[in-house]
Amino acid sequence: PETITVAELANRMAERVADVVKSLMQNGIMATQNQAIDADTAELIIEEFGHRVTRVSDADVEDVITRVEDNPKDLLPRPPVITIMGHVDHGKTSLLDAIRNTQVTQGEAGGITQHIGAYQVTTKNGDLLTFLDTPGHAAFTSMRSRGAQVTDIVVLVVAADDAVMPQTVEAINHAKAAKVPMIVAINKVDKPSANPTKVRTDLLQHEVVVEEMSGDVQDVEVSAHTGQGLDTLLEAIALQAEILELKSNPDRNAQGAVIEAQLDVGRGPVATVLIQHGTLRQGDIFVVGEQFGKVRALINDKGDRVAEAGPSVPVEVLGLNGTPEAGDVLNVVETEAQAREIAEYRANLAKEKRAAAGAATTLEQLMKKA
Ligand code: GDP
Ligand code: MG
Repeated sequence: PETITVAELANRMAERVADVVKSLMQNGIMATQNQAIDADTAELIIEEFGHRVTRVSDADVEDVITRVEDNPKDLLPRPPVITIMGHVDHGKTSLLDAIRNTQVTQGEAGGITQHIGAYQVTTKNGDLLTFLDTPGHAAFTSMRSRGAQVTDIVVLVVAADDAVMPQTVEAINHAKAAKVPMIVAINKVDKPSANPTKVRTDLLQHEVVVEEMSGDVQDVEVSAHTGQGLDTLLEAIALQAEILELKSNPDRNAQGAVIEAQLDVGRGPVATVLIQHGTLRQGDIFVVGEQFGKVRALINDKGDRVAEAGPSVPVEVLGLNGTPEAGDVLNVVETEAQAREIAEYRANLAKEKRAAAGAATTLEQLMKKA
């Protein structure tokens, strides 16, 4: 039977997951965002939200939104996707750069200049890791509310000379809400004023018990400046990933999440997409949020053109008709007409929603004045 997860359904309708969960509850169905519901229930909810399900384009949307049930034997191991979070100035950017630079071989003069918002590194043990270079908490939250869970592991950066701060707590809460395992990177240990023990005891108050405190959250002392502990951190990440047994089916129509997107003067709309299922190839036709397109070129994190990108691989996608938003989901479809129709359908939905929201505000304002 056809099923769809609550998060996916919300994403396809451009509604908030919380609202869909609420609507389900009002219909006597208790479901969390990762739970799958059947097509009939989905249709009921779609109607509740005032979206029509009988139009021609709806059939197409259904085709796309219906999650393919992967046969377990088709699932292959995929690299973990890691997001670095933490308080401002605790060294997130420095750490990302330092990790990236551990990969720069001497041949690459000037290092890696291409910046696509995500990159992959290979550890000394040969493990491939994908880092998202979008440490903004807002981005993380917005992606989650759109149903795009892209992160497998959160690295929580805490500066050893500052300890736990408001955004550290925020990051802890994000990771816990998303049920994403955390690894604590105690940064700036090169500083004379560094006090890693204070970081560990501070974290206890937020129910984060690190291994040094006999807990099960891995903690690693690092310095983005000297490079101390970076290999250990990468090993800790690889170990955590192994426990998660991350798998995906590379052999199906690609699905991915937009990490960032912009209108490039020379190249037109460009989106950095993290592939989550299947393999995206040059020439593939896709719909992404309210936009659509045909893959003209794929560019990897090193700035090289590639023919295809599989699970956990971040790529720049060229060939879009417009600029999508971070958190939008990309789906490969069969025909360009279908892609166009779904994109237009979604754009109309969003327009209707905005109009309805506008009308409600006006009414509210009128009531206030009366
Ligand atoms: P972000 O706001 O979390 O991205 O932090 P940044 O990476 O921009 O770093 C904030 C400041 O801390 C910068 O001045 C960095 O040079 C400094 N910094 C980052 N990591 C280290 C470190 O390991 N040791 C020392 N001494 N300074 C660091
Ligand atoms: Mg930064």
